[in-house]
Amino acid sequence: MGGTGAMGGTGMKCPEKTGGADNDLGTLATDSLDALRAGVLVLAPGDEVVFANRSARTMGLVTTELRGINTGRWRIAHSVLRSLAEQVRQSGAVRDVELELPLAPGVDPEATGGRDWFGVRVSVAPLENGHVAVEVEDVTEAHRVARVRRDFVANVSHELKTPVGALQLLSEALLDALDDPEAARRFAERIHHESNRLGRLVSELLELSRLQGGEPLPQPEPVSVDRIINEVLDRSRTAASAKNITIVPVGQRGLIIHGTERQLVTALANLVDNAIAYSPENTVVTISASWEQDKVELSVIDEGIGIAPEDQKRIFERFYRADPARSRATGGTGLGLAIVKHIATNHGGQVSVTSTVGKGSKFTLRLPGSPPGATSEERYSSEISEQDQSVNRTGAGT
Ligand code: ADP
Repeated sequence: MGGTGAMGGTGMKCPEKTGGADNDLGTLATDSLDALRAGVLVLAPGDEVVFANRSARTMGLVTTELRGINTGRWRIAHSVLRSLAEQVRQSGAVRDVELELPLAPGVDPEATGGRDWFGVRVSVAPLENGHVAVEVEDVTEAHRVARVRRDFVANVSHELKTPVGALQLLSEALLDALDDPEAARRFAERIHHESNRLGRLVSELLELSRLQGGEPLPQPEPVSVDRIINEVLDRSRTAASAKNITIVPVGQRGLIIHGTERQLVTALANLVDNAIAYSPENTVVTISASWEQDKVELSVIDEGIGIAPEDQKRIFERFYRADPARSRATGGTGLGLAIVKHIATNHGGQVSVTSTVGKGSKFTLRLPGSPPGATSEERYSSEISEQDQSVNRTGAGT
């Protein structure tokens, strides 16, 4: 029975089971195997596919194609599974292995985020008369996490090596330049800059690992958006003033986000820090707060260098920088937006970006919260600009 027909809808049925009750039992067994998430195959000697359940076919473990031609007969799609079956046939012992297999033809790589493999745990057991049973469990998620961890450790080591190497060289240069106070001063200043960057990198790494589930999530509390914005305005005053950048808060007052104040301040501060870092002098950064479609929307809009569409897709990844040289020059770690994304996700919200190169960018956080009370719907501008004249008018000649 190298059949094709019985493989179409549900798993292949046992031909011997012809009697009424037995037949019912056969159907029940086949339906049960089809209900499993694991792929199940039974192979006859010569690797003829005697049975393949629904998952085995969805995973692309079997195919009727041979070198692009439809043969009309089901065969195993992956040679590694054929070799395993043969080994088990010969040794008579069960084998368990973990593998990464190419995705079945026809699976859209867009749906997998560009991943062209899937991870499987395969268990192959000998049956009678040279038959073998193959069970294939999808463990893609565990493999993906392991890969991400490996890449992360490699990236962190690389990122730490750069400032540490710079510090070693600069301190040697400083020792050599002790007789020349001007040069010594220059080296000391660069040591200060690099050690600050190193410090920021370490604290952002710690922040990221906390956000990624190292610690239990704090109980969400109602957090005033007005307070978040005021705190961020306070923190970014110095950086904005150094570039003569004006920060303008606009939008609704009295909004509430359900979450953790410290994290929300960090997320907004990271967006504002970037808006300042990637904008030229004498420009405006706007922080806008509003209640849109049952969510609090907090946007940071700049008139800066903008982000190309291909970079917009990747900037929320750890250590991804559109322009590594510029990011280093501004003391960037490449972790700011990854932290923002984690905070948004941990709060049950999202962060998104729209941007035009040469014109500017708009980053928007959409977070669960509550709308303002009827009486507090006022424009921000007037009140906060009064309280925070120094920030709104930072360096603008007042
Ligand atoms: P970094 O520490 O490098 O700023 P982030 O994770 O905060 O790291 O940002 C990642 C990259 O996204 C930056 O290196 C930069 O290329 C780009 N980026 C972020 N914010 C902006 C912005 N407001 N304008 C232009 N580019 C930005």
